[in-house]
Amino acid sequence: MVLDRLGSGLRGAFDKVRGALFVDDTVINELTKDLQKVLLASDVNVKLVFELTKKIKERIKSEKTPSTLSKKDHLLKIVYEELVEFVGIEPKPLDVSSKPSFIMLVGLFGSGKTTTAGKLARYYKNRGYKVAAVQTDTWRPAAFEQLKTLCGQVDVDFYGEKNNKDAIGIFNKFKDKYNDYDIVIVDSAGRDALSEDLISEIRTLKNTVNPSESLLVISADLGQTAEKQARSFNEAVNVTGVIITKMDGTAKAGGALTACAVTGTNIRFIGVGEKINDLEQFDPEGFIGRLLGMGDIKGLLEKAQEAFREEDVEDLSKRLMKGDFTLQDLYDQMQAMRKMGPLSKVMEMIPGMSQVKMPKDALKVQEERLVKWKYIMDSMTIEEKNNPDSIGSSRIERISTGSGTEYSDVRALLKQYRESKKMMKMMKGQNPKKLQRMMGRFQNGNLGA
Ligand code: GDP
Ligand code: MG
Repeated sequence: MVLDRLGSGLRGAFDKVRGALFVDDTVINELTKDLQKVLLASDVNVKLVFELTKKIKERIKSEKTPSTLSKKDHLLKIVYEELVEFVGIEPKPLDVSSKPSFIMLVGLFGSGKTTTAGKLARYYKNRGYKVAAVQTDTWRPAAFEQLKTLCGQVDVDFYGEKNNKDAIGIFNKFKDKYNDYDIVIVDSAGRDALSEDLISEIRTLKNTVNPSESLLVISADLGQTAEKQARSFNEAVNVTGVIITKMDGTAKAGGALTACAVTGTNIRFIGVGEKINDLEQFDPEGFIGRLLGMGDIKGLLEKAQEAFREEDVEDLSKRLMKGDFTLQDLYDQMQAMRKMGPLSKVMEMIPGMSQVKMPKDALKVQEERLVKWKYIMDSMTIEEKNNPDSIGSSRIERISTGSGTEYSDVRALLKQYRESKKMMKMMKGQNPKKLQRMMGRFQNGNLGA
């Protein structure tokens, strides 16, 4: 779709990094320069561009590269994340929780407010809300008919008054009707936000309506003036989100991105055409992903995810190696393992364990046993977990009853604990032969029940 130039510019910058032999200061500087060039050419505000690239540079310098990523991939991941953060991190649905919720649209003349009012009416109606729209634009003669027609198309109630010039008066006139609806969309007059009479009208209207969302509607083709416009609308009505229209055009959209940053809010919807269904909920990750080439980004993020899991395992194996461990440790490890996935995978990652071959069945049996042991440990006190040797037969009785297991199950766990502790001590000495024998017994279930 849109933003072809921004997208191809960013992808070009990424390709350059991929093509570099290794990541050094030159590559990093080149990348930040490329980013600046691309973003500035797309009308993103200069100050914001420099803040963004500064942040990227700082992260590259200070962050450790995850083990499963190359330095290059790490660099690209940081850029991706910062770009996503720049446009808003997570999709943020509109607040339509109170009944009725008022959604007020503000913006320049011709930005697409009235069209968007119709689109939003359809959007929420299709999701089961009872919706109405009010026209308070008394400046543009056609505005009344325009919104009325759009509401007719999607069978949504419309309120307005053709020859009344008093926007606040029109809104107030239908006050007792609004309680019949879940959502009331309020369209407003546009003009230059820098004109004082518009600003004071919008401010009064906002205070009268008391909307849950005051959305700034901005056309994607609005250039550098976006910053000033966004600022004055924000001062007047305290903008809660941005809708960018005409994203289907060949616009640069940087102005709209700037508007988001200036108002400290997120893009909530984008308009992608003139038709009433040409509205998309905005998804920052998807948006940046599309700009950068989705496939590449997805693979990158998956690899990074794996790295975090590996770090968990490293941590775990370090603790195992310490040799002094309690049932509480065993429990924590089991929790960590469950988080990390199948036992076989975990075993592979622990130093020394990868050479030890274990049949699949044995692993399955062991995993089932782990589930049972988890129940048992849930029935123990912290004191008991820290000092398992204190658990005598009456406590075993209590624990097995509490966890719905057999007396022998609890004993098996305690036995496993003692054997594991022994094993840890051996691993500390790194005697693989002994370890292998040990694992052989482990497989055959000799350590279990
Ligand atoms: P308003 O003055 O802010 O209420 O703007 P309008 O809703 O009247 O829209 C101005 C023009 O922009 C109309 O011709 C719309 O059809 C057009 N328009 C609005 N949104 C979009 C969009 O997402 N894509 C395209 N291509 N045109 C749009
Ligand atoms: Mg309008």
